Amino acid sequence: MKLNEYRKKREFGTTPEPRGSDDVRKASGSLIYAVQKHMASRLHYDFRLEWSGVLLSWAVPKGPSLDPSVKRLAMQTEDHPIEYSDFEGVIPAGQYGAGTVMLWDEGTWEPDDADVDASLQKGEIKFTLRGKKLQGAWILVRTRGFGKNPLRSTWLLIKHRDQYASGKDVTLEEPWSVASRRLLADIARDGGGEVERASLGDPDGKGRNPASAKSASGRKRRPS
Ligand code: MN
Repeated sequence: MKLNEYRKKREFGTTPEPRGSDDVRKASGSLIYAVQKHMASRLHYDFRLEWSGVLLSWAVPKGPSLDPSVKRLAMQTEDHPIEYSDFEGVIPAGQYGAGTVMLWDEGTWEPDDADVDASLQKGEIKFTLRGKKLQGAWILVRTRGFGKNPLRSTWLLIKHRDQYASGKDVTLEEPWSVASRRLLADIARDGGGEVERASLGDPDGKGRNPASAKSASGRKRRPS
């Protein structure tokens, strides 16, 4: 039911992604948190929070920022199965989301307000992350305006001010997988994917991340 849209988009004989079970038994009572860095048609970070037996999911084009003054666009996408939370690998060409997926961060999360359904309705979720890269207080706020489909709504992901807030560019300084320490190009190589394309999502050796790189004048860097 909740995973219908997820399953409709994918051919499970071809993609290595999990189909997901409808009745997930978990050993731990903590809610799963995960971020997958995904070099698909565009680079983005899939931000996932377990709720009600699925992973609520948002695609964050620029990835999270530890700076509380920075709001990152987060487009809600279809719910994913719990089993997706440790997926890392290559989605074959021609499949939905074709490209390279890295498990960029993982851990647990805790909502400030236990009634997450009410927070989702309201369009404001305050929570604490206990990940390997992201920690402390965060907020997701739904924007007004475009997107009446609740599955396609637009949110902002913002770091709340606390001891974990920082000016450090976490996507640039910690670009590797928390599961395997690999970069996107390594994952593509190991999985028979497009290595050069995947490497466009890795730091480019000039101290810049293609996802957030800007020239000194503030204009977007052109892809080479
Ligand atoms: Mn994605």
